[in-house]
Amino acid sequence: MAADTIYAPSTAIGGAIALIRVSGPLCPDIAREMLDRDIGKTPRMLRFVRMLDGERVLDDGMACFLPGPMTYTGEDMLELSCHGGSRTVARLLERLSKTGSRPAEPGEFTKRAFLNGKMDLSEAEAVMDVVSARAEESLKAALDQLHGKLKERIHAVEDLLLDSLSAIDAAVDYPDEVEEDVSAALPESLNQAKTEIDALIAEGRQGRVLREGVYVALVGRPNVGKSSLLNALIGKDRAIVTDLPGTTRDTLDEETAFFGVPVRLVDTAGIRESEDLVEQIGIDRARAALDRADVVLLLLDGTQALTEEDRQLLTLTEGKTRLILRSKGDLLQGADSFGELTVSARTGDGLDKLKRRIVALSGAREGAAITNERHIKALDNASAALAHAQTASELTLIATDVREALHHLGAITGRDVDAAIIDRIFARFCVGK
Ligand code: GDP
Repeated sequence: MAADTIYAPSTAIGGAIALIRVSGPLCPDIAREMLDRDIGKTPRMLRFVRMLDGERVLDDGMACFLPGPMTYTGEDMLELSCHGGSRTVARLLERLSKTGSRPAEPGEFTKRAFLNGKMDLSEAEAVMDVVSARAEESLKAALDQLHGKLKERIHAVEDLLLDSLSAIDAAVDYPDEVEEDVSAALPESLNQAKTEIDALIAEGRQGRVLREGVYVALVGRPNVGKSSLLNALIGKDRAIVTDLPGTTRDTLDEETAFFGVPVRLVDTAGIRESEDLVEQIGIDRARAALDRADVVLLLLDGTQALTEEDRQLLTLTEGKTRLILRSKGDLLQGADSFGELTVSARTGDGLDKLKRRIVALSGAREGAAITNERHIKALDNASAALAHAQTASELTLIATDVREALHHLGAITGRDVDAAIIDRIFARFCVGK
């Protein structure tokens, strides 16, 4: 089936230079029609060209013809670098629309790369993660995935399971031909596969943190200094700071990064019972934020003795990954009493240490292989299928479970994955990728 030829701007509007990518069988024709010289004869060379609409000059720029299959999509490609003004880009896109090609859907270039066997599904999804990586560490994890680290590890498990499965099938279907005793090696293989899958799942949690950010909730009774601490941590003046208790009525959400790890900080209203409806809504949200949090920061006012409310909050946050902080460190003398760490929003003392502790507690670390919820779910399912296989007594039943596990792993590597899932994944891409 001959594919359509597609085109899309690959750079955001507003830069000095814009790149328009074209992919598909019409590329050589388009180059001939639209450019003042035939760059089809000099593939892979960046040439200075005049871009034309008949006699009319649309722009001067650079163009490169890339013959398939050694291209990103595996098809013939044409790259046009033009001046970055949105008018110029619009004119060139309009010109392209008259060549028999059509605008690309979001993610369609990468989808074609996948369909043409240039990358597997996990690598294709990683492309999107690289494009949208929010902070340095996320980018590293996405790049690792892009470079096939995940693929390698899952392929190894797949190979192991495929070996087992074929051994079982052979033993069941051709008992007279096969001498080896399958059941002997089977428990060890299943165990090894499951152990590796479980390790990948454990890393998945860290991967999620890198992707979505560490969710940090600040709790503490009114006036302990939550808003001030939030401001100090993000380095700007966001939350309303007042001397009146209960003035932070809503949860305030801020995105930042500590040492390259993305962090979402949520300042909660003082969690306590309230008569005031507006405040009550804030309190409900605060509880929700607390439930979601990867790390809870419980603030205690360093200048005052513990109150009943502090004690309630200590109980409420028990069992969560939390840090107990003593606020307003600049007003304190001596290092006595409660709290694991003393901080001052006013002077900034203790904040660096706090940021390090948050990152350490979140479990985020470099090189986590899995950064994608869908992958984690597939691994969970594969692990469950193998657990079931480990309890099964008959070879045919074990084979069914192993097949199921392979099916789930295939959902990550793209072996055997149905088109509906693929379309949904690529629909999340931005146009031009
Ligand atoms: P929240 O109600 O918990 O959000 O508390 P706020 O951040 O609004 O702070 C309550 C009061 O404590 C304000 O008057 C702040 O200026 C003061 N405050 C907060 N943090 C510090 C600090 O580190 N040092 C000092 N000296 N005062 C602080």
